[in-house]
This record gives sequence, C-alpha cells and structure tokens, in this order.
Amino acid sequence: MGMNKQKGNMYPFVTHTWNPIRGKCPHDCVYCYMKVYPQSELHFAEKEMQTNLGQGNFIFVGSSTDMWADVVPDEWIDKVLKHCRDNYAYNQYLFQSKNPRRFATHIFPDGKLLGTTIETNRDYGISLAPMPSIRYQFMKRTTARKMVSIEPIIDFDLVTLVDWIRQIAPDFVSIGADSKGHNLPEPLPEKVNALIEELSKFTAVKLKDNLKRLRQKIK
Ligand code: SF4
Repeated sequence: MGMNKQKGNMYPFVTHTWNPIRGKCPHDCVYCYMKVYPQSELHFAEKEMQTNLGQGNFIFVGSSTDMWADVVPDEWIDKVLKHCRDNYAYNQYLFQSKNPRRFATHIFPDGKLLGTTIETNRDYGISLAPMPSIRYQFMKRTTARKMVSIEPIIDFDLVTLVDWIRQIAPDFVSIGADSKGHNLPEPLPEKVNALIEELSKFTAVKLKDNLKRLRQKIK
C-alpha cells in the first residue's frame, strides 16, 4: 500500500499518510470516518517496512486506526518508529492518539509532532478510548512539540476546556466539526466563537472549513 498523498479534510500541513498498523480501531468512536469502509482485524503490515518515506514530507503515521491503543503490541510501534528514525530522518511526522499515555515510553524520530484529540472536556461515552480528561493529563506531561485536535467539536464547558489546553501548551490547536451528520451534541455558535477567542490568546488556532456550519449565525 505504501504512503498515500494527503487529500480531503485532514490537516493542510500533512503531505502524506502512512498506515503500517491497520485494521479495525479498538477505540470505536461513533463518529469514526473509517466506519464506512470494510475493516480487517488489527494487524501489523510487515511489508510496509519496505516503504520509501522520501524526504521533506510531513507524514501522518497512523491516520486510519489508533496505533497507540492499548492492545497494540510495543513491538509493532517500535518497528514503525525505527523505520522513520533510522531510514527517513529528513521528514516530519505527526503521531496522533487518544491514548497519549503511550507516547512516554517510545523513541521517536526528531521531526515529531505529537497530537491528541480532545473533542470536549465532557465524557459523553461516544468512544472506547481513554476519556478526554485522561488524554489531557498525559498530554500536559509530554514535552515534545505538540498539537491538539478539537474535532469533531462537541458541546463543552468553556472554562475547563480552555484551562486544559493552556496546561497542555500545544504549538497549535486545530478545530473542526462533524461533517457526516452523526447527530453529536454540538455547541452553539457563540460558544465556538468564545473558545476560538480564548485559545487565540495563548496558542495558534487553525480552523477547518467544516467549522463554518457551526459558526454560521456569527458570520
Ligand atoms: S481513535 Fe480515531 S481511528 Fe480510532 S475509532 Fe476513533 S476516530 Fe476512528
């Protein structure tokens, strides 16, 4: 399979995705975009260790399943990181997980950006992943360059969510909305705008096009 050129509504800075660990994601989020595709069992694609990752790319490693989920063996993760580190050091890599606890125990390539998703500060029970409150606790202890994805944004408590993000101290926050009609409890436009305003006081805020739907009463 190799790398795929980035397309669609992902991150503009990402040039490619690469998924050497693939199959049905154990986190089973209700809004997962992968649910519309047939899914194999979670597995390590050994042949991907032959993939040429090039140089000067920004590669999202593990975009189709959370390769940091608890059931993924350390050995699989270490093989993936070693391939990036030893053979293709002249790239940047995004590793994003709803289980950032595992970031602390692995050796990454230098050009790493570590991310997590915090769609809300509340626990709505929409995923089998560690709760947002746990993700936040581990992300704030991570010292690497990091980012937070608030996507799909779900109704939240403004003061708490802003406080969490401030403590995490990410390089930037990316905010997006549900684009597939999953009937999530979404925040009102005024609240989305207030969040953007507060976060912009201490970090860069990148807005996805799909957020316009939730801000339409404002502009
Ligand atoms: S963690 Fe990501 S890949 Fe896994 S089910 Fe949730 S949205 Fe899908």
